[in-house]
Amino acid sequence: MKLIALPAFADNYIWLLHTHSHALVVDPGDSAPVLAWLQQHPGVKLDTILVTHHHADHTGGLAELVAHTQARVMGPALETMPVPAQTLQQGDGFDWHGLRFDVHDVPGHTLGHIAFWGQPPDQDPVLFCGDTLFSAGCGRLFEGTPAQMLDSLDRLAALPGNTRVCCAHEYTLSNLKFALAVEPHNPAIQAHLSLCTRLREHAQPTLPVALQTERTINPFLRSRQAGVAAAVQQHDPRAVDDVSTFAALRQWKNDFR
Ligand code: ZN
Ligand code: FE
Repeated sequence: MKLIALPAFADNYIWLLHTHSHALVVDPGDSAPVLAWLQQHPGVKLDTILVTHHHADHTGGLAELVAHTQARVMGPALETMPVPAQTLQQGDGFDWHGLRFDVHDVPGHTLGHIAFWGQPPDQDPVLFCGDTLFSAGCGRLFEGTPAQMLDSLDRLAALPGNTRVCCAHEYTLSNLKFALAVEPHNPAIQAHLSLCTRLREHAQPTLPVALQTERTINPFLRSRQAGVAAAVQQHDPRAVDDVSTFAALRQWKNDFR
């Protein structure tokens, strides 16, 4: 199976997974990049569309793609989709050409946000996490609470370290700059920033990224580390426990320029 990031809008990725005959896409906010790819691969049929949450930059292409391909749509049980969809929630699973996907509820960015984890045969697992986990960052809390987002990220962080994290946005460089403000002496962040700077200079995606790398660079997966918690406390003295520290870290990022 091949994994491809189709760029869309200013900084979205529509993830596409395909065999020699079938394709699956995740969060098609725009149908055009997907239809262009399908036109270039006439032997490949789009049969499944996964949706992580209801925002338009993840769902805007659904109607046109379904009209063109009759693909099945699978989306969150707790959110409204613009097209009929099979609904999924925590503990559900489904098969796609021998690849088993597990569904995780990951509320925070939106209340019904879900993520998809699966392990293609003889390959590292993939995680389609929408706007919950970004490389070196996490989604904004539009609907959920800091406690919900922390819990969601904890569960994603516990997945196997070789998981390829497929985020829906290319926010890595600005996230890494914030990560360095939180942990100026973390060598993993410094190394990843220089790697990703080179990738972006060549217009290459910084994704997917290994989950084990995220554990070393992502302040939102590291908010209980002594150094991170101390930096947050210095920035905001109201950070006194796990949840208030996470909340203060998220607010610090919101205000960071
Ligand atoms: Zn979103
Ligand atoms: Fe988004």
